[in-house]
Amino acid sequence: MEVGSMDDEHEAETWTIQRSADLYQVRGWGHPYFTINQAGRVEVVPDPERPSLTIDLYELVNDLDARGLELPLLLRFSDVLRDRIKRINECFAKAIDEYQYKGAYRGVFPVKVNQQKHFIDEVVEFGAPWRLGLEAGSKPELLIALSAEQEAGGLVICNGYKDQAYIETALLAQRFDKTVIVVLERIEELDFTFRAFAKTGIRPTIGVRAKLGSRGMGRWADSTGERAKFGLTASEIVEVVDRLQEKGMLDCLQLLHFHAGSQISSIIPIKQAVREAANIFAELAKMGASMRYLDVGGGLAVDYDGSKTDFHASKNYNIQEYAYDVVAAVKESCEKYDLTPPTIVTESGRAIAAHQSVLVYEVVGRNEVRFGKPQDPGPKAHKILQQLFETYQGIAPKNLQEAFHDASQAKEEAESLFKFGYLGLRERAQAERLFWSCCEKISDYAKTMKRVPEEVQQLDQVMAAMYYGNFSVFQSIPDSWAIDQLFPIMPIHRLNEEPTIKATIADLTCDSDGKVDHFIDVEDVKRVLPVHRWREGERYFMGIFLNGAYQEILGDLHNLFGDTNAVHVQLDGEGGYEVSHFVKGDTITQVLEYVEYEPGAMVERVRRQAERARRQGLITFDQVKMLMKHYEESLGSYTYLTQDE
Ligand SMILES: *Cc1c(COP(=O)(O)O)cnc(C)c1O
Repeated sequence: MEVGSMDDEHEAETWTIQRSADLYQVRGWGHPYFTINQAGRVEVVPDPERPSLTIDLYELVNDLDARGLELPLLLRFSDVLRDRIKRINECFAKAIDEYQYKGAYRGVFPVKVNQQKHFIDEVVEFGAPWRLGLEAGSKPELLIALSAEQEAGGLVICNGYKDQAYIETALLAQRFDKTVIVVLERIEELDFTFRAFAKTGIRPTIGVRAKLGSRGMGRWADSTGERAKFGLTASEIVEVVDRLQEKGMLDCLQLLHFHAGSQISSIIPIKQAVREAANIFAELAKMGASMRYLDVGGGLAVDYDGSKTDFHASKNYNIQEYAYDVVAAVKESCEKYDLTPPTIVTESGRAIAAHQSVLVYEVVGRNEVRFGKPQDPGPKAHKILQQLFETYQGIAPKNLQEAFHDASQAKEEAESLFKFGYLGLRERAQAERLFWSCCEKISDYAKTMKRVPEEVQQLDQVMAAMYYGNFSVFQSIPDSWAIDQLFPIMPIHRLNEEPTIKATIADLTCDSDGKVDHFIDVEDVKRVLPVHRWREGERYFMGIFLNGAYQEILGDLHNLFGDTNAVHVQLDGEGGYEVSHFVKGDTITQVLEYVEYEPGAMVERVRRQAERARRQGLITFDQVKMLMKHYEESLGSYTYLTQDE
């Protein structure tokens, strides 16, 4: 093999879509919704029960782009959401059936995971066959839940810190023939509840959130345990019981809730928490409360890296196992304490919402360290340049580590020679290029070898190209920045070609944190992502997957990049798809207004300056016209980069 001249065309022949699927672990995280088709593009299977109805993601994005929905574009696949809801419910139905559990199951969707109206409307619609309820964690979310759940018989669980008005609203809403349960997170909320009862005359249905002793696992381990932010300790729970009893209201206490944290990657702490909660539940029943619901909270994890392990980006159990374990633990306690089996409630958010949405962005530029074969600097050149060139020529599979040392040392020396004035800027630049040529040759050899010295392995990262994406990490995948959460990221086309470039991803913000340099991997975490060689004049699209939970609402306006365009895509039953709920992303005017600017006044102020400059003869009429046109048109445009007309 001729080192330094990897031939893309030749590689394309031996590369297969199967190899792309393995490389990006598509089966691991994407099954059954995402695959790669024969054309080498990501294919969406929105409804796994109708696997022949597929959508070519690349074509879809091109179609939408042609209709004026520019990238970055958030796609929500309604059928995927429907399938997630169905899947969880069917798993619980199966578990209940197999364990012959006598109680029922009801899910509630936590509104905080994604409050967008079109999304919540779909959750309610698709959840209707299963009587899926909603969980509110704040007053605004309760208002959403009450307006979204139109059917009688609905279930609304009220968590979060509450004031009197929150609780009064919850009680009054029970008159819509809904079960609205006020879950006490703090002991003070009991007083509010008594007062709300006195004022409205409506008896509350009360739950208590327990601080469990068993700790969750992973990132949100602190959600439980004695020092958790939320919930009542054992003694506070007893106090609630006593005070309810005094008022003759112990029958109002019907639910026990706990939440062991989100993305719990191992099944073991889940089982422990359910067992502990089931015991508390049984004690409450023994004390005379009319216990009817055991709410096991959220935490059902998503396998972001597809490794099926207890790594934080994964999970070592599936939904069915989760359902079996929850049902089995509750059943066991019921038998032990001779209880009426409660309705099991789960508050899974992430596991319902993550899969349905995909962000597609365009790569708008790149920065690659590739200098290829260097020229001989010649005998008159500075000694250090000659030395680097010799190092380059001497690189062979046997001496990669040594050559890397020599090259690094020479580069450092060139830098200090420059500092002391013995090397000009041009020569320093030449040394830099020679150094990178060495690295390139070393890493090209390393690719062909089985055993690669450790330092040389790190060259991948050092030499990684930077692919600039037309999106904002802070807006679209804030958790990638805030807590290093991993999301599957991959090109959505050209998957029948070998991705020969190793890259990290940079976004449009001018923040050095606006990048992605951690990627999913079977073993651990990859620091570079294989991507395709950029082709001049051709658009290159990449997708960020499984980002439907939490990202939209946590996203922020860093650098004033606002909401992206978003759209719902649904199978139309005739082999095609339907696009609905076009939601245009923020315009520059909108984001400026968020921060209290008045675009009209801004135009005026710029115009005044332009006029002044024109009077002074510093700018021509035509230039004023062009400036004002750009200024005013930009105000109405998308905050992200747009294609030139
Ligand atoms: C956040 C939250 C959830 C949702 O958790 P997931 O891990 O997304 O399923 C459920 N219940 C409560 C109380 C929460 O705070």
